[in-house]
Amino acid sequence: AAPLVIAISTAISAKKGLLIRNRASFEGARKLDAIVFDKTGTLTEGKFGITDIIVNEGYEENELLMLAGSLEAQSQHPIAKGIVDGAQERNISLSEPETFESLTGKGLHGVIAGKDIMIVSPGYMKENNIEYPHEEYKKLSNQGKTVVFVLVDNQLGGMIALADKVRESAGRAIEKLKKMNIKSIMLTGDNRQVAEWVGKQLNIDEIYAEVLPHEKSDKIKEIKSKGLRVAMTGDGVNDAPALANADLGIAIGAGTDVAMETADVILVKSNPEDVVSIIELSRATYRKMI
Ligand code: ADP
Ligand code: MG
Repeated sequence: AAPLVIAISTAISAKKGLLIRNRASFEGARKLDAIVFDKTGTLTEGKFGITDIIVNEGYEENELLMLAGSLEAQSQHPIAKGIVDGAQERNISLSEPETFESLTGKGLHGVIAGKDIMIVSPGYMKENNIEYPHEEYKKLSNQGKTVVFVLVDNQLGGMIALADKVRESAGRAIEKLKKMNIKSIMLTGDNRQVAEWVGKQLNIDEIYAEVLPHEKSDKIKEIKSKGLRVAMTGDGVNDAPALANADLGIAIGAGTDVAMETADVILVKSNPEDVVSIIELSRATYRKMI
């Protein structure tokens, strides 16, 4: 009877938009102890809009947006889309960078109109001891806004704050997991204040912020080494190593190709509550096969 049960569960899962790529990992889903979630694009919608632009002396908002937008036009990151959309709304024409490189988990670097431009995280600013207005920055990040810094020839040109929306379905997913005695954990490259602002709304159990991409998979290994069976849920290129190392890798359907190619299960509807559906379906499918 077992193969028939599995065939039925495959049909059910496909209908619900749960794409199972790895049977063995799906079978193990019924025994999970903890679910790790990426923040941006997973617990949140990953749709950023610019809320504030704070320019340093000697710069104008539109000039800063032109430089930032031109660089971000080369990136796939949700922050990038937010900044490019913001520039377009103001009818700012963007230019092609002369050089471009992505600083994984930290930002972007390139040359635009002969100027050396970087758009970086607060972590990068701290690591490199670059001055910035701390009070202003704190005020924005305590409102849950993601702040990026625009550097022009290694000097601060200004800060751009962006807001994302928490997925309501993420709150429901975490509530259901709590009832099942499964721990929920956030793992994000974004700064601590933003992570805590999101975590509080979702009532999530644990938060790890300012985590670099390679540290995401280290964290998964660390959780596993405590004897916990863990799933990782993410959407980004930076989540792929963690997806590969988890007992169950779950990709958000609206995410990047790399995440989907690495994952054991894809949530076609991009709904975090479907993590719970997978566990329930795994339990129902394999209940009789212990
Ligand atoms: P998350 O784990 O939330 O998906 P990432 O690891 O992708 O975050 O990014 C971490 C941080 O690096 C961002 O919060 C941002 O500060 C910076 N960053 C990454 N990519 C970009 C980009 N294209 N433009 C500006 N900043 C970026
Ligand atoms: Mg993400």
